[in-house]
Amino acid sequence: MQSKLNQRAEFMQTTQRWVVKIGSALLTKDGQGLDRPALADWAGQIARLRKQGIEIVLVSSGAVAEGMSRMGWHEKPKALYQKQAAAAIGQMSLIQAYEENFQLHGFHAAQVLLTHDDLANRRRYLNARNTLRELVDLGAIPVINENDTVAYDEIRLGDNDTLGALVANLIEADVLIILTDQSGLYNKDPRKFADAELIELGRASDESLVGYAGGAGTLIGSGGMRTKVLAARRAAASGCATIIASGRESLVLERLKQGENIGTLLIADQETLVARKQWIASQLQMRGKVWLDEGAANAILNTGKSLLPIGVTRIEGVFERGDVVGCLAPDGQIIAKGLVNYASDEADKIKRQPSKAIESLLGYVDSAELIHRDNLVVL
Ligand code: GLU
Repeated sequence: MQSKLNQRAEFMQTTQRWVVKIGSALLTKDGQGLDRPALADWAGQIARLRKQGIEIVLVSSGAVAEGMSRMGWHEKPKALYQKQAAAAIGQMSLIQAYEENFQLHGFHAAQVLLTHDDLANRRRYLNARNTLRELVDLGAIPVINENDTVAYDEIRLGDNDTLGALVANLIEADVLIILTDQSGLYNKDPRKFADAELIELGRASDESLVGYAGGAGTLIGSGGMRTKVLAARRAAASGCATIIASGRESLVLERLKQGENIGTLLIADQETLVARKQWIASQLQMRGKVWLDEGAANAILNTGKSLLPIGVTRIEGVFERGDVVGCLAPDGQIIAKGLVNYASDEADKIKRQPSKAIESLLGYVDSAELIHRDNLVVL
């Protein structure tokens, strides 16, 4: 563990895709409205990191709190529709503030509002993923919040720590950085115990962390450390590490990039690619089958290549983009499983064809591969 700690700088140097989550407590000064200088400072750090090549997706809370302040409300309304109305008002100023600040550095903010449903539904999940990737490629900085205005109880995530973790899974981030108003995760509630110690490094899968974060009803627990630890665990499922740190530390994001030991780093037990492949391998249900010719079967088995449409001779079953399908060798042996980039009717049209023909056959190109090698597990 200790040697890992020394490797923090090394680890941070290898990270390339970050999800940064900024909480309401930081963004709004006790319901006084947006802390604009602080927001400008984080935006500046994000823009500078972006210029160094770090792909950053921001998950920002603060809509409800800012909306309340705009309406002159001092207490959080009880009724959901009132909170939703506040969120609609507050989200405007939130995104405006990000846009103004990112523009100072030559970037656009891109507002993305999601609900739990968008992430649970495969088609919407993939669309959200593609859009976020495109936004990052375009050099914009996505600013994500829960779509509070339409989210009713059943489809609400409720807290943006969970949303941050789901976004980290979605874009396969290397690290989720949760900026909060506390210095990190302590082994006891630091507001009650003077001897509480900051945990600098842990494993996201460590069961005892949830205990440290406090059960329901304790100050830290209800203050949200528990959801942060659970978010770290969720992020770890796709191989993503989590850092819980104080957003009030000066230049916190840039110093984290330099590998400074600020806050708590919770590492995932396995790397992104391994985690994804395990997930694919564990999917029992195969929606369909694709039959390969000899050349494609060899390329997959022996050279770790992606599966191109040209190597596919037959499509079986009805599946959608993003479903898990089985890959069959000409003798009918199942040799691999993977996440398919095209629905069965589309795959049928492009089979035996070179990838450059996809556009004229389908009217669009999602990717040159039918199954990318990162999404392919040889059995
Ligand atoms: N989506 C909520 C907002 O922007 C915040 C949820 C949270 O703070 O976790 O106000």
